[in-house]
Formats: sequence, structure tokens, C-alpha cells
Amino acid sequence: MLSLILTVGAASSCAAQKNKGLSALPPDIRAQAQTALSAAAIGDADRGRIIEEIGKDASGFAVLFREVHDVMKKDPDLLRRVDKKVALPADFVPSDLVSLDGAFPYVVSKKGMQLRAPARAALVHMAEAAREEGKTLVVSSAYRSYDYQVTVFARNVQEMGKIEAERVSAPPGMSQHQLGTAIDFGSITDEFGDTAAGRWLSANAGKFGFSLSFPRGREAITGYRWESWHYRYISPQAAALQERFFLGVQQYLIEFLAALPQP
Ligand SMILES: [Zn+2]
Repeated sequence: MLSLILTVGAASSCAAQKNKGLSALPPDIRAQAQTALSAAAIGDADRGRIIEEIGKDASGFAVLFREVHDVMKKDPDLLRRVDKKVALPADFVPSDLVSLDGAFPYVVSKKGMQLRAPARAALVHMAEAAREEGKTLVVSSAYRSYDYQVTVFARNVQEMGKIEAERVSAPPGMSQHQLGTAIDFGSITDEFGDTAAGRWLSANAGKFGFSLSFPRGREAITGYRWESWHYRYISPQAAALQERFFLGVQQYLIEFLAALPQP
């Protein structure tokens, strides 16, 4: 126990030691990563773990970092920060929304839902792969406009009070669904995580660029209770960066990227 305390104390008292894991990065990436890691709201322990992961595979990090940077340059909204601290404007509407209706390998729970084109394309690939393994992906909610979120949130506040409503739903402007890249699958209940589709998504969604936004045990970081059904499309490159270096926590990755100089 004593040695643990000494180690932690020594690490946090010396910035050079703390950032040692970043030293093998190319200088341009190292400077950006260092700044962004300090700016993002990541606790010291988790920041230390992230830096340690980067240190284990600096060249792998550099490759993914550059790829994700390219994704952001081409499509800034794909990795845009939207959470309880950063809201979208009320008039933000994605320009490339497409209908989910039609002959696709997924099932929709109702007609008229939409997603951004790159998110639907990835959903189609993912649903095909799921179907090949005998799993059916059911889309229960997709793009939600600012005005629709006003209705959803007001109804939740009325039913459960403001504090609980904020744990389970986003105030208008703060929902990832307004980005047109978030999907709620299946029953939208905790049981979904234990269904065949829920388990399949948990194991495979990242390969198709989808990321579980509000993981179990991370409410203090994300601001939301665990939602086994809510995935956001962030691109396969960003999903890999999140998985390999950001402890699987999308909030960390997004805050890190938002703190970089914007391309
Ligand atoms: Zn959702």
C-alpha cells in the first residue's frame, strides 16, 4: 500500500514523468496530444492510463490519430462534441439525412426515421454482418430534431422529475440524436444488453464505426446512466482509437478531439 501511494505521488508530482508515454510520438502529434489531454475533463488516474496505453504503441496511436484527423477534416460534425456541457444550436439540422425506410437488412420499429448518409451506410453493413450470424438489428430511434427533443425531454420531466429526466434523456440541443448519427436499438431497456442483438453489438459495433455512448459504470463521466441500446456512429478509425487508447470511453475521445486545434 505504501509503495502504491509513493508511486502515485511521484507520478503526479512530476509532469515530465507523467507524460513519458507520449515521448515516442512524432513531435507535432506529441504537442497536440499533450495539450488536448490536459484540456479534456479526464481524471488523473484515467489520464495516466491513457498515456500509458499510448506509450505502449506510439506508432499505432500516431497512425490512428492522423486517420481520425482526416475524418474530422472531411466531416467535422461526425466527431463533434455534444453533451451536457456543449449544446448544438436549435437550428442545427444535418444536411445529408436519408430515410431508413426501404429494403434494408435491419428492421425499423416505425416508419419515417432518418440518419445521416454515412451512418446509414455503416448501419447497413453492420446489419448485414449481424444477419449473417443470425442476429436482427431493430432500429427504434434515430435522428431527432431539436423540437422533437423538446417534447421528449418535457414528457420525461413531467413523468419522473427533472433530476431523473436528465439521467435518462438529454435536454434539447444536448442530444446526440440531433447529430443524425445516434441510434437506439431494440427495446431501449436494460434487458437489451442481454439479448442476442445487444451482445452482438457490444462485441462488433466498433468494427463498423459505432460506439456505445454511455457505458456501464461511467455515469459520472458521461452524465447518463448506462444505455446498452444507444450507439453513435463515429467512423471505424475513431472507434479503433477509442477502443485502443481511450479506455473504450467515447466521452474521453470526443473531449480529446474537441480540444485539438480544429483542422
Ligand atoms: Zn439514444
